[in-house]
Amino acid sequence: MKFFADSMLGKLTRWLRLMGFSVEYATPDKNDTEILSYCRQNSLILLTRDRELSQRYKDSLYIKSDDYRDQIKVFIGNHEPSEELFFSRCPLCNSELEIIPMEIFKGDVPDGIREKYTRVFHCSNCGKVYWEGSHFDSIRKALKEIISETVP
Ligand SMILES: [Zn+2]
Repeated sequence: MKFFADSMLGKLTRWLRLMGFSVEYATPDKNDTEILSYCRQNSLILLTRDRELSQRYKDSLYIKSDDYRDQIKVFIGNHEPSEELFFSRCPLCNSELEIIPMEIFKGDVPDGIREKYTRVFHCSNCGKVYWEGSHFDSIRKALKEIISETVP
């Protein structure tokens, strides 16, 4: 199951990708009709804050709130996340991340990171590199909190 988010949902998009969901994001040059035909052609579920737009496409999830935590709750009330998929996708570009053992990773990382971590998460599409620092823990904690507050 793959998703497409409208341009009002950038923050939600990044959080959903961190949970491992595939979410494409609307570029500003796409108008409503183009968005709908793109979603239809690619069998994508549309996430949108535009009620009228959601009514024009049956596979839509209308998201009323402008608060990303509430948006996540609406989403996961409809599509259950799986913790094994957390950090499997690049939050910036939506590509799947590959896990590379540190000893064979050739790219640059800041001082101390190479010694501290045994592996990196590498995006072969945009080149971004992630590692399991405190940022990972706070993201994981925030997601678990939001999930636990969501009524199934
Ligand atoms: Zn990327």
